[in-house]
Amino acid sequence: MTTYLSAPRAIIGDGKTVLTPAWIGIQGKLITYVSVQKPADATDDNTTALEGVTLTPGLMNIHDHISRKSLRFSVNGQTFGERANKLMSRDLSYLMLHSYINMKRYLLEEGITYVRDQGLTGYTAIELRGAIDEGLVDGPYLSACGMSICITGGHCYRQSMEADGPDNVRRAVRIQVSKGADVIKLMGSGGLEHFPQEDPTVPQFTVEELRAAVEAAHDAGRDTAIHAYSTEGILRALRAGVDHIEHGTMMTEECIELMVKNGSALNPTMTGIRGAAAAGPNIKYWDMLKERIFSRQENGMRMAKKAGILIGAGTDTAGTLADEIAMIGDTLGESPVEALSHALGVNALIARRPDMGVLEAGRLANLAAFEGDLTQSLDGLSRVRHTWKDGSLCRR
Ligand SMILES: [Zn+2]
Repeated sequence: MTTYLSAPRAIIGDGKTVLTPAWIGIQGKLITYVSVQKPADATDDNTTALEGVTLTPGLMNIHDHISRKSLRFSVNGQTFGERANKLMSRDLSYLMLHSYINMKRYLLEEGITYVRDQGLTGYTAIELRGAIDEGLVDGPYLSACGMSICITGGHCYRQSMEADGPDNVRRAVRIQVSKGADVIKLMGSGGLEHFPQEDPTVPQFTVEELRAAVEAAHDAGRDTAIHAYSTEGILRALRAGVDHIEHGTMMTEECIELMVKNGSALNPTMTGIRGAAAAGPNIKYWDMLKERIFSRQENGMRMAKKAGILIGAGTDTAGTLADEIAMIGDTLGESPVEALSHALGVNALIARRPDMGVLEAGRLANLAAFEGDLTQSLDGLSRVRHTWKDGSLCRR
């Protein structure tokens, strides 16, 4: 049996199309009807009429760390780093509880129905993905990398699998695949986690090591994503054929050309890297970071957009998806409808999920209803009224 949702408007997710009004048909897990026209078989009995909302596909977050999400809420008197150290010193079983509650909040409070976890807490995201798939607990669709892979002493080495030399890196990738990783995450440069002791401008893996990683991942049908701030780190990754550049803060024309040639995507996680810096001891370096990292990233994103590179919306640990969408939109000079597409149709392309991200017959009935008119302002993104996953209303 088909049921219908009607709403004053819907944003399709392709960056341009808005339906006013909107009629969405759902049968089982799938969307079967999307139109401004009321369907002939819609009645009061099979239709839920939603007043004062904008319907969208369920939002997608392309870069997250689901166990650590509580760190985005600031606590008086404690820096981000202090809170992170405290949380990360706990056993993984405790972090699993955080993952569960964070993902439940995503569904109910943020309208997020897909998340790509980029590691740092063992195999908790893979296990939670299993529990969600089995119907044991509620949560969004999860894509997980298992453990990220870094060089000895490299970025986030305490929470990653260290590997040096092409053979060891290849083996590390194969271990992640055997554990059930959907995507392989590499750490390709320093970052801001321990800035200024850690230098974001240095590359980490060699091209040969990255090539081994990409070959092993692609042989297993997995994409590769790389944490890369530095220009050299980005270039090495692209020369090795890495699929997704995470953060990408120091892009040059050469990076852009290679990304276009390879079809690589850019996932800037603007709010995540700024949020962690603002909440931590790095705040005293804010002006320097703004000049050397943040404004360069904004420039790189504008170059990427001009070149037609896919720019995904992801939060990293310290950001929220609503803020990320707004910040990407501001940086690229986009309308709310265009900005939203980074977390919808664009993320679906990056995640290789043609069954999500756009309101279209045949795709999964993952939807969200936000208060107000999102075509005019993204403020309503913080006011979720309902979320549906696989055609079912998510309940508290
Ligand atoms: Zn990250």
